[in-house]
Amino acid sequence: MTSYDEANEIISKEFQNYKLQIEEVALSDSTGRILAEDIYSDIDLPPFTNSAMDGYAIKFNSDITKWKIIGEISAGNFKEYNIDEGLTVSVMTGGKIPDGADTIIPIEDIIIEKDTIILKDNATFRKGINIRIKGNDLLKNQIALSKNIFIKPRHIAVAASCGKSRLKVYKKLNIAVLATGDELVDITTKPDEDKIRSSNLYALLSAINEMNQTGINLGIVKDQEDEIRTRISSFLNSNNDILITTGGVSVGKYDYVKSIMEELGIKINFWKANIKPGKPIIFGTYNNGSAIKFVFGLPGNPVSCIVNFLIFIKNNILYLFGIEKDDLFIAELTEDLKKKDDKKHFMRGMFSKNIEGNVFVKRVGLQSSGNLAEMGKANCLIIFDEEKRELKTGEKVFCIPI
Ligand code: AMP
Ligand code: MG
Repeated sequence: MTSYDEANEIISKEFQNYKLQIEEVALSDSTGRILAEDIYSDIDLPPFTNSAMDGYAIKFNSDITKWKIIGEISAGNFKEYNIDEGLTVSVMTGGKIPDGADTIIPIEDIIIEKDTIILKDNATFRKGINIRIKGNDLLKNQIALSKNIFIKPRHIAVAASCGKSRLKVYKKLNIAVLATGDELVDITTKPDEDKIRSSNLYALLSAINEMNQTGINLGIVKDQEDEIRTRISSFLNSNNDILITTGGVSVGKYDYVKSIMEELGIKINFWKANIKPGKPIIFGTYNNGSAIKFVFGLPGNPVSCIVNFLIFIKNNILYLFGIEKDDLFIAELTEDLKKKDDKKHFMRGMFSKNIEGNVFVKRVGLQSSGNLAEMGKANCLIIFDEEKRELKTGEKVFCIPI
């Protein structure tokens, strides 16, 4: 059976054939999008040498403690002065430094007497303090932001300082989700007897949303070949990039999804991965000559469905956009864990930190792939490797935050 690592390699290799599209958006609309260009500054930052404090500009001389005030420069209102030893102008934060001055004494460190400032007895300062030198933050034509990052407010500030009113970002992927199962009803219906609410659709749409991609809800189909065929084939003819189905990928009598995918010309790259939960996962590729599409058939079990998305789909979508998913962390187990098979397990866990910053983890009580409410309590997945059967209290384990 395909191992977890092999499965991920297959997905990332297939994803490389996808041509990312780029679009331009207004800077103010770009938060949360993924930057598709390197940003260079068109000016030095700061553009001129200026004061970092409200204070007095002087020409440093350690023997002088009194200066005559000859003027004032506020931010954005420069006036020419020539500052010689013993002279000063008051300069506000962000005000340009006049010629001759090399140091700013903060207002808090002086006493004003008529047109003179006098250094307070306990004040100390040295040459060059409180001055922000032109280009000290970034020089003109230097790289300010590298592409392939989720744009956050701090990046917006940098781009704005570099004069970028529009940014090139990757177009969002259109990811359609489809639930299969005769037992499914939508969330607005109170299920009777043998029905359940289709939570998977909403979990997947939320996970897609969290990555700021476009989720398309294709709803629920019955376990009927015709219906499933119609829906999958309309995806193949749409402009959506990825289809995620849930349910019907195992070996049950009414598990039609895989055979229909094959019948419609989807190349199955693997079916079943040596993991728990979520073993029956299917990954397929469809290439109609002009565009490549990807299909994931996830099991219906709500826990398997979410875990599969996190460990196979999310990481590979990020990777496609040039972003390495680097949130793996190490925690110390506070209980023994056991397993009986050679699958890689992704146990639902709860991690916590103590005041010294040590991270501890234990599993949430119920680990069955049907225990969705238990999954709601978890904040990480504990990775339990294939070859291991037991993990001991105190052992360090890798975890993925969820
Ligand atoms: P399946 O993978 O179709 O064999 O389904 C496995 C289990 O997951 C069954 O107990 C289903 O009722 C449940 N299930 C299937 N689809 C969904 C869904 N969309 N939302 C919640 N549970 C589901
Ligand atoms: Mg089913």
